[in-house]
Amino acid sequence: MINPDRITTTTCPYCGVGCTLQLHVKDDFIFKVTSPFDSPVNHGNLCVKGRFGYDFIYHPKRTLTPLVRRYLLEGKPKPEGREQVFAVSTDGSSISNSLISNLWDWVETDWDTALNITADKLTEIYKRDGSDAMAVYCCAKATNEDNYLLQKMYRALFRTNNVDHCTRLCHAGSVVALQLAVGSSAMSNTASQVIQNDVFIVTGSNTSENHPIIALQMKDAVQKYGAKMIVIDPRRIDLVNMAEMWLPLKPGTNVPVFSAMAHVIVKEELINWEFVKSRTEGFDDFVESLEKFTPEYAEEISGVPAEDIRKAARLYATAKNGAIYWGMGISQLSHGTASAMALIHLAFLAGHIGREGTGLNPLRGQNNVQGASDMGAMPFHYPGYMRVDNPDNRAKWEKTWNIEAGGLSLKLGLTTTEILSHAHEGGVRALYIMGENPMMSEPNLNVTRHHMEQLEFIVSQDIFINESGAYADVFLPATPFAEKDGTFSNTDRRVQRVRAAQPPRGDSRPDWQIICDLALRLESKLSVATAKWTYANPEEILREMGSVNSDYAGITYDRIDKVGLIYPVPDLNHPGTPTLFKESFPRGRGKFHQLDYVPVREEADDEYPFILTTGRLLEHWHGGTMTRNSALNEAYPEARVEIHPADAEIHGIRNGDPVKIQSRRGEVFVRATVTEKTSVGVVFLPWHFHEAAANLLTNDALDPQALIPEFKACAVQVFPARQSDLANPDVVVQRGRY
Ligand code: SF4
Repeated sequence: MINPDRITTTTCPYCGVGCTLQLHVKDDFIFKVTSPFDSPVNHGNLCVKGRFGYDFIYHPKRTLTPLVRRYLLEGKPKPEGREQVFAVSTDGSSISNSLISNLWDWVETDWDTALNITADKLTEIYKRDGSDAMAVYCCAKATNEDNYLLQKMYRALFRTNNVDHCTRLCHAGSVVALQLAVGSSAMSNTASQVIQNDVFIVTGSNTSENHPIIALQMKDAVQKYGAKMIVIDPRRIDLVNMAEMWLPLKPGTNVPVFSAMAHVIVKEELINWEFVKSRTEGFDDFVESLEKFTPEYAEEISGVPAEDIRKAARLYATAKNGAIYWGMGISQLSHGTASAMALIHLAFLAGHIGREGTGLNPLRGQNNVQGASDMGAMPFHYPGYMRVDNPDNRAKWEKTWNIEAGGLSLKLGLTTTEILSHAHEGGVRALYIMGENPMMSEPNLNVTRHHMEQLEFIVSQDIFINESGAYADVFLPATPFAEKDGTFSNTDRRVQRVRAAQPPRGDSRPDWQIICDLALRLESKLSVATAKWTYANPEEILREMGSVNSDYAGITYDRIDKVGLIYPVPDLNHPGTPTLFKESFPRGRGKFHQLDYVPVREEADDEYPFILTTGRLLEHWHGGTMTRNSALNEAYPEARVEIHPADAEIHGIRNGDPVKIQSRRGEVFVRATVTEKTSVGVVFLPWHFHEAAANLLTNDALDPQALIPEFKACAVQVFPARQSDLANPDVVVQRGRY
C-alpha cells in the first residue's frame, strides 16, 4: 500500500454533477482518487471518469512547452496548406512530411516569445480590422476565474462581445426558454432534492451515462423513497428499467408530446389554479394554442400511444411534488427553445416549482458550463447575465474595469457557430480558443473545417494539441484541473473549490496566469492602461467579479472551503439558495408562450431512411481530448453505432460488422452494435471519436432563438462496409465533402 505525501480535495473536471475528489499524491504523482462520504454532492460515490479518468495529465502527448509555427518565428508570410497540416496528424509529429512546407512546423519556444508573437498578431489584426475581427471561445472546463478574465480581456481590450463557449452547443435552447419564461436560466432546485419528488420526469437525458451520480440519486428516489419516474426518450436508456412509464417518442417530437400532456392537464382540470392565477401570465392565449395538441395528434407525430400521454400527464400533475430533469435531447434541436418551453408549461400548470422537491432542472453538461455562463462567457451577457446592450450594465463594468464612459461595446456578439461562419475577409480574422474543440463539437464538420481554414490567426490554449489545435498558429500550454486553483460552479449552482495537487508539469501554466500575462502585453501594444491584470491569487479575481455580479457577492474561498455555496449568495452572511422562485420569478410572473409543432429540419426519406441521434458515453467525454488520452480509452476504444435488430436484419448487418453511415454532409465508418436500446428507424452514434466523428454527419440547422444546432436529429443511410474501411484512430482522417 502506498502512503500518500498529501491528499488534495478538489472538484471533478468532467460533468456538471461536480463530485468531490480526493487526489492521493506521492512524489508529485497522483496515484489514486477517492471521494469523502460527507460530500453533499456525491456522498463518496464516483463514476468511472472521476475515479479513473485523471491519468491524461501524465500522457506523453500532453504539450508542456509553448509552440509557434516556424513561419512566425522566422517572420515569414503565412504559407499555404493549412488543410494538409490537419490531414496528416493532430500531434504535430508528422508535419515535416515533405509534401508540406516546413514553415508549418511547430517550434518549441519560451513563454516570452510565444506571448509576444501572440500579442503582436492580435494587435496587428485588431488595429487593421477592428473589433469585429476578433473572437474568443472561452471554456466550460476551465475555472470561473479563467473564464471571467478571458471575456474581460476581449471586452475590455478589443471592445468586442464576440465571446462564447460550448453552452451554445448544449443547453442554449433551455437557457433562452427559461430566460423568456421565468427570467433565470439555471436549475431551479438541486439534484439531490430528487429524493423529495413523488413523481419526476426525465427527458432527453441519458442520465446514467451523462450524469451518473444524479442517476444514482434518481434510482434511490424510486427504490428507497417510492417516487415514480417517467422517462420520455427515443432510446431505451438504463433508467427505463426502473421507470413507472417510458414514452419512446421519435427524435424531435418533444413539443407535441409535452403539449399534449398540457392539453390533458387543462382538459381534465388538473390545473393548480392557485399557482396559475397568482404566479403566471399568458394562460388564456396559451390554452387557445393548445387546442390542436390532442394526445391522438401527438401519437400520430411521435409514435407515443395517446393513452400513455394521458397517463403520464395525470401522474405528473396530481403529484404532491413533481419535478422535471432534462438534457440535450430537449435543447439540441432546431426548435430547442420551444421544446424546453413546452416542459416549462407543464411545471406552471401543475405548480411544481418554487418548492423543495419540485422544479425545472436542465442538467448542465460540462463541469463548469454553469460557471462559464455565469462569468459572461457569452455574446449577449456580461457576468451575472447582464445584457451587453443595456447602457446601465455597461457603465457598471466600465467602472470596474477602469474604462472610459461609453468605451465598451453595446453590440451583441457572435455565437460559437456564427463566429466560424463569419470567418472570411471582412469578418472574423483571429480566433482565440481556450480549451474548446470546435473541430469535434461543431455540427457539419466539413463546413467547420472550411471556416477554420479561412481564419488568419488561431491561438490554442490547451493541454493537448487536439483536432482544433492542429489548425493553430500558436499553442499555449495550460494546466489541467489538478495543477491549478480556482472554482467551478456545478449544475446545482454550487460554487466549489478547485485545488492544485501538484505543480504545473513542464512549462505549462494555469490559464488565468497566461491570460494576465498576455493582457499586460496587449495593453502595452495598444497603448491603453485599463483594467487590473495583476492578481495575487485566483480569489482576487472571483471577488472582483462578485463586486458587480450579486449572485456571487457573498462567496469567498474561506466560505466555500468545505462544501461550497449554492448561489445566489448576495452577501457575506447569506447561506446560499438551493431552491429558487419561492415567492416570485426574476421576471415577475412566469410567462406561458404559444407554441407550434415544427418538425426537425431533415426527416427520414427513401434516400436517407434513418434518423441519426448523437450523444455521450459513460467512459468518454466530449471531443475526447482528456478521456481518449487516459486509461478510459482502453475500456471503450472505438466508436460503435447502435442499430435496432429489425433494421440490422433488413440491411444484412450483424453485431460487430463494419458499416458506413452517410448523411448529406459526410460519412463515417464504424462497427455496428445491434441492440434494442435504440428504436426502429433510429441509429445512435457517440461523438467522442475523431476517426468516426459524428459531427461530420450532423445538420448545422439552427434554432432561430437560441442559435443552437440540431445535433439530435438528421437523416442518414447505413451501408455494410469492409474491415479495411475503418479508420486508424492514430491518424486523423476527415471524410466527406464540402
Ligand atoms: Fe465526475 Fe460527473 Fe462522474 Fe461525478 S458523475 S465523478 S462529476 S464525471
